[in-house]
Amino acid sequence: MLINKNNIQLTHSSDYEELSLKDESEVIFSFIIEASSPQKAKQALLAFDFDSFNIDEKKTGVYRADNPKISYFRYLETEKYLNIFDIRITPPRGCKKFKYKIIPWGNELVKEIRQLKITQLSSNDRPKRKVILKVDDLRFDESFSKFSRVIEICNEFKIPASIGVIGNTLENASKYQIEFIKNQLGENNIEIWHHSWSHKDLTLIPRYEIENEVTKTLDAFKKIFDQNLTIFGAPFNKVNDNVIEVAKSHNLDIIFETDFPRNITPELNKNGDGQPNLLAFIERFERTKDQEISQVQIHPGRWDDRGYNEFRSCIAYMIGAEINFTTVNNINQTE
Ligand SMILES: [Zn+2]
Repeated sequence: MLINKNNIQLTHSSDYEELSLKDESEVIFSFIIEASSPQKAKQALLAFDFDSFNIDEKKTGVYRADNPKISYFRYLETEKYLNIFDIRITPPRGCKKFKYKIIPWGNELVKEIRQLKITQLSSNDRPKRKVILKVDDLRFDESFSKFSRVIEICNEFKIPASIGVIGNTLENASKYQIEFIKNQLGENNIEIWHHSWSHKDLTLIPRYEIENEVTKTLDAFKKIFDQNLTIFGAPFNKVNDNVIEVAKSHNLDIIFETDFPRNITPELNKNGDGQPNLLAFIERFERTKDQEISQVQIHPGRWDDRGYNEFRSCIAYMIGAEINFTTVNNINQTE
């Protein structure tokens, strides 16, 4: 689709345009923008004012057709006076058409905008969103079954998971627990990462203690599973320079907090009970749909039966959204 609109005057009062989507497309708006000076070009903003999204409600159950106004502001970075911009918009899933208008934000900065074209990329053209299912706080104690239950669900859906072990229970692991994990490591794309020895906040302890927290888990894991841990995730997602340096010095080359810093959780933690919740998850997941790689972080140690049911629904939702489930090791190998 090509729209030529030379020298259009865009203002707050201009009319909304309607765009029908061929598919669940990503839409690229291309512009030439001329600013009143090079400095001002750097500050130029365009606002997308979406009046309404027309959503297939059955498909999502979340969005309403009369979605209130949403504005997306995009900062246009350029040193130049005159430049071409591509602005990508990903409408909500299930959206069939939307009404929009584009407003130069701070009219005095933008001298002229020419809308060159609108390109729609179908879902086949764009890369699939990758998700690492990050499972926190595996312990080899009476809570183990809460984790084996999650792993069984992952196996059933044929998706991988990335599981963080707290080291100080490794020595108490039963034969059954060790065998269970060993089988998973071999066949099912389950990876284990280092989640400290005792789950202390590592940013509050001296460096020699961090050193202990790191080496003790490395040694215990190696002894039982005959593998070196290579991925690290800090308790409470809290790191400082000391933590990063110590981890790297022990060949923990990937650190969740620095390599994949943003996570989404399906759990209702604040003012909630820590159980996964499908609707809250969908809302968070869709809000972060521009992330190329997301970690979905869960703490099954806190769940009851309800939690597992909602978790299943969250997984089913992501599968429906054609997510590419992956692991840290898979990402590392393909890069
Ligand atoms: Zn933790």
